[in-house]
Amino acid sequence: MIIVLKPEATQADLDYILRRIEEWGLRSHISRGEHRTIIGVIGDEQKLQGRPLTALPGVEQVLPILKPFKLASREFKKTDTVVQVGKVRIGGGSLAMIAGPCAVENYEVLDTIAAAVKAAGANILRGGAFKPRTSPYSFQGLGETGLRILHDIGKKYDMPVVTEVMDPRQVELVNRYADMFQIGARNMQNFDLLREVGRINKPVLLKRGMSATVKDLLLSAEYILSEGNHQVVLCERGVRTFEDSTRNTLDLSAVPNVKGQSHLPIIVDPSHATGRPDLIPAMARAAVAAGADGVHVEVHCAPEKALSDGQQALLPSQYAELMRDLRRLAELFGKYIGPDDTSKTSSQGG
Ligand code: PEP
Ligand code: MN
Repeated sequence: MIIVLKPEATQADLDYILRRIEEWGLRSHISRGEHRTIIGVIGDEQKLQGRPLTALPGVEQVLPILKPFKLASREFKKTDTVVQVGKVRIGGGSLAMIAGPCAVENYEVLDTIAAAVKAAGANILRGGAFKPRTSPYSFQGLGETGLRILHDIGKKYDMPVVTEVMDPRQVELVNRYADMFQIGARNMQNFDLLREVGRINKPVLLKRGMSATVKDLLLSAEYILSEGNHQVVLCERGVRTFEDSTRNTLDLSAVPNVKGQSHLPIIVDPSHATGRPDLIPAMARAAVAAGADGVHVEVHCAPEKALSDGQQALLPSQYAELMRDLRRLAELFGKYIGPDDTSKTSSQGG
């Protein structure tokens, strides 16, 4: 449910309403727009039955949110959310170009890849230190050593870093090294993990589960938002279908679909979606054309030697060529590829 305040509502009115909501055993989230303040009421709405909400001071309207997700919904917040990762803004016209290897393997390899993707125009560096591998015998990542390497190289190239966290017990550790948490497809519905990153004030890249609907994805985002962390970026990375010539099937319609229902930014990962370097550039270009707020691509300087996902990695030269196209497309659509643009975006956070 959302409570829309009158333009002339005072701070005292707002404080009074917030106190009552708390007394009734519910929580609230305030969204201040240009003309109106909106209070999102979070929790079991049964508790509001029989409460004369419209009689509260300063209240203009009380509206039910028809969607099962509330804080993530467009009804709750009309303007696009912009998530800031270091100096890079994601959403509201600013694009995230996230690139790097699937896994952090050692200092030298990541250094080489980071230098190349930075030169090509990437603005966020990625690399997994905890890898969710299908087989327990595959390389599982370097753990804290990997996090430290990623952090150091991010600093060296002045790029914020994103890395996957797989377990609530890793959140504190990953928080020390990363600028953005990644929740992988396999953990999109690890609700304890979502709650844990929801309690930390740090951006989260939430990837769509391989069998998750758009509604499931938005409900998972809601878990993070409802804990108080409003810096969520969604990621379409393909879903499982009967098609077996690609790793997954990229659901590009998820981009405008999400944008119609939610104010959260959404980026596209054509690497895990297709699993094929020959298809990644076309899908990356299509993602920007479809309105995505960024593109997430795996790049490796020696894919044949990569310890994970080498078969889908772009070479640095292929990535540089793709970035040339993406910059042209961004310009065509009036979008900006960061780092520190502050002039073209206005709405910040939830
Ligand atoms: C990854 O980004 O390396 C990864 C494992 O992605 P996903 O969770 O989308 O499979
Ligand atoms: Mn990967």
